[in-house]
Amino acid sequence: MLINTPDEIRGAIKAAGVIGAGGAGFPTYFKLNAKVDTVIANGSECEPLLYTDKTVIKQMPRELIRGLKIAMKATGAQKGIIAVKGHYKDVVSAIKNAISQENAEKDGISIHELENYYPAGDEFLTVYDVTGRVIPEGGIPLNVGVVVSNVLSLIQVAQAIDGKVVTERAITVTGEVINPGVYTVPIGTTYNSLIEIAGGLKSKDVALIDGGPMMGKIVSDWERGVNKTTSGIILLPKDHFVIRMASKSLAQVVKQSKAACCQCFRCTDLCPRNLLGHQLYPHKTMQTIDYDLVEPTANITSAFLCSQCGMCELVACDFMQLSPRKVYAEYRKLLVAKGIKNPHNRSGFDVSSQYENRKVSIPTVIKKLGLTEYARPLYPKDSKAVSIVRINVKAHIGAPATILVSVGDILNIGDLIASSPEGGLGTAYHSSIIGRVTAITVDYIEITAN
Ligand code: SF4
Ligand code: SF4
Repeated sequence: MLINTPDEIRGAIKAAGVIGAGGAGFPTYFKLNAKVDTVIANGSECEPLLYTDKTVIKQMPRELIRGLKIAMKATGAQKGIIAVKGHYKDVVSAIKNAISQENAEKDGISIHELENYYPAGDEFLTVYDVTGRVIPEGGIPLNVGVVVSNVLSLIQVAQAIDGKVVTERAITVTGEVINPGVYTVPIGTTYNSLIEIAGGLKSKDVALIDGGPMMGKIVSDWERGVNKTTSGIILLPKDHFVIRMASKSLAQVVKQSKAACCQCFRCTDLCPRNLLGHQLYPHKTMQTIDYDLVEPTANITSAFLCSQCGMCELVACDFMQLSPRKVYAEYRKLLVAKGIKNPHNRSGFDVSSQYENRKVSIPTVIKKLGLTEYARPLYPKDSKAVSIVRINVKAHIGAPATILVSVGDILNIGDLIASSPEGGLGTAYHSSIIGRVTAITVDYIEITAN
């Protein structure tokens, strides 16, 4: 079937199960259901150690441009801008060559070279760096006429129009593994299998992070499967600074804050959202918990403005090792549970005069995090077939997907196994290997290879 109109494009993307590959898993078709003037392909990949986006750009630059054109068509955008770090010359040149081969400049496509800082990939900062527009407090890129989509998602958009559904993805595997690299594996490959594919562990007593070291989450069950949103896994010694900080409970954070927060302001000085002009002052919020204030004052409700980027914790407060980020996460949870909505929605404010000066370079972040020994360029490596996958059908934002298969069903790659109800926000999931359904739990479908 010829897919041509914006509705047909969105329908194909939805059916292929494309969701944000770089973060929260927002369904891509829904994002493209908007009228904007600019689509940004986000290839900034600012989390230290990760090489996934850089790899897929170099492998498939023309698909990326095709996906970007499709996204522009769906949204009516006249400009498509690929945002990548200028530091990665090979990535920049792959894009420039593809733009020229595809004669894409005439379609409004260009490249924007970002500085090599963290968190350049936070879409609020990406939009400002690329377009000079400031997203309002509590807003989204759409508020300033922009859609931001991860580069791998856009490649999957191009593939969706060709009839290919999302069944695999590239993942950086690094840290304490023998063969660090970027491996393309079926969705649902277990963390244990992925470690084995990367040659096994180099040392014992390690913890696993799904994502980057700044924003990733510790995974304790390594028999679970990787998600459509898993951009990387990082294995680090259990006593590593990053793991110790990620493992701290809120109770520990509060106790330590009461004893140790010296109100030095460094967390506020380096908070990227504060630098963008949003009224978010982590040091003041730390003062709030110090005095056990429980009323939802602005210093508490500003939790809605926090991106959870971790700058305040892992970079600004590395000496005291306190965590305004965790305090904000907890406050946000409590506010949502109480039915309190975000009251912060200012717009038209000025960006701080210190915005440029206080950008923290990736090499500095790596040093602060104690990751120097793992920081090296990574390249695609051969993967292996896997014998079992456990596909998480809750990896997206939106209505839960209904499971459409039963134990014993025989599946081919690409067969539909779960889908959200029609009409709302949701997505679809497909079998990522040839095999038989061997287990179904509340959140995953297990398929064992024949
Ligand atoms: S949380 Fe840390 S960085 Fe922030 S004011 Fe307190 S001591 Fe300073
Ligand atoms: S995690 Fe910290 S630095 Fe990042 S936005 Fe939230 S308060 Fe600011």
